[in-house]
Amino acid sequence: IWRFWQPIANMGNFYNAMINAMAYLERIFETIDEEPAISNLPRATEMPQVKGQVEFKNVGFTYDEEAGNKILDNINFKVGQGSTIALVGPTGAGKSTVINLLSRFYDVQEGEVLIDGINIRNVTLGSLRSQMGVMLQDTFLFSGTVMSNIKYARPDATDEEAIQAAKTVCAHDFIMNLKEGYDTEINERGTRLSIGERQLISFARALLADPRILILDEATSSIDTRTELALQNGLQRLLKGRTSFIIAHRLSTIKNADCIMYIDSGSIVERGTHEELLALKGHYYKLYNSQFSVLEAV
Ligand code: ADP
Repeated sequence: IWRFWQPIANMGNFYNAMINAMAYLERIFETIDEEPAISNLPRATEMPQVKGQVEFKNVGFTYDEEAGNKILDNINFKVGQGSTIALVGPTGAGKSTVINLLSRFYDVQEGEVLIDGINIRNVTLGSLRSQMGVMLQDTFLFSGTVMSNIKYARPDATDEEAIQAAKTVCAHDFIMNLKEGYDTEINERGTRLSIGERQLISFARALLADPRILILDEATSSIDTRTELALQNGLQRLLKGRTSFIIAHRLSTIKNADCIMYIDSGSIVERGTHEELLALKGHYYKLYNSQFSVLEAV
């Protein structure tokens, strides 16, 4: 099985790129030889207009069916349209796997993943992913201008719409400070964007695409205070009215979530709001005290 996965694992950024691009347009499939892990069922139907209710029902999953080691075991949750879910927990716990299953990068072996009550296994990948915004940590931007990157998911949008989206998610100010503003070429020498700035551009792109379901892997690397503030405010605006799953690393995001799911060894071990989980004095409480309480003291 490793012979199969290794090339994909090695693709690094390209793998991120792939998910991101597929999530929007499935363009990139044309350029790679790898068989996608998932394909449409013969009788797959089109996913209707998504509203945003998401349910995992007794979900069990392994990447390696021969080894049979369960990565997720009996995951159950149901979240309403528009809610923000923060996934937290140790590295390797299974957070990315949850979002991989929700964006149907893999199919579950046990249970069901349902969106608006529809088992996502039964719908076409294109109709599903075109209705999701996926923003991974090493935010993938294409070579091209800032403007074309924002418009990537909606090439027919006007410049005004793109700029309005950037303003809404607090990306406009930093963009205007770039050498050539929205016309700045992203991969050119001299315009190296920070992770935070790249994430801001991806927020603008996502807002313009306006999906009902958003998936975000938050940047972990240190971000300067100004960008951090823009990210906090921009994110809250982006999340409004969408169902969002965030692998959350920033305290502000976690505290603002409607529900925090603490995942450990493939199970949801605690769930609730920030206050509820602190009161439990369990896993989340420990995480908070070891990583975040010092932030609040300042
Ligand atoms: P988290 O996001 O919480 O850090 P992951 O969902 O990435 O955790 O990983 C959960 C487990 O699944 C880990 O043991 C990891 O090694 C394994 N895993 C993740 N991706 C793959 C893959 N593509 N193939 C095989 N194992 C994987």
